[in-house]
Amino acid sequence: MIRKLLFATVLLIGAPAAVAQNGCSVNLEGNDAMKYNLKSIDVPKTCKDFTINLKHTGKMPRNAMGHNVVIGKTADIAVIDKDGVKAGLAKEYIKPGDTRVIAASKVVGGGQSTSVTFPVARISSGGPYSFFCSFPGHSTLMKGSIAVK
Ligand code: ZN
Repeated sequence: MIRKLLFATVLLIGAPAAVAQNGCSVNLEGNDAMKYNLKSIDVPKTCKDFTINLKHTGKMPRNAMGHNVVIGKTADIAVIDKDGVKAGLAKEYIKPGDTRVIAASKVVGGGQSTSVTFPVARISSGGPYSFFCSFPGHSTLMKGSIAVK
């Protein structure tokens, strides 16, 4: 009985913190198969800021199967990615001071989570925009569209 209670307590502590849902955030997952669970993200135009919560649902470490989420103009993704790979893991696979980057999270490994928040005004015009993972080789599979709706 006590063992069961302890187990339940551990489960509760291990659960993600309850976050107020105002529609201005999305939960994105990345896994060990190098995939996100979403192909597109709709950002409500009523939001001032928008948050992407990224959870790595796999088990592999960040230096082998790390994931982040980066937002940029779809036309800029290839160059942001190329420069990010050169910058390396120590720079979270983002070239320092890259002004083409609208938002970028840290790189997380299996079981870890991170989040990134950006002003919706940054993507409300001049698109289309995309999100992707800048870990080397991941952007071919780990990418999608993000748009204000
Ligand atoms: Zn990745």
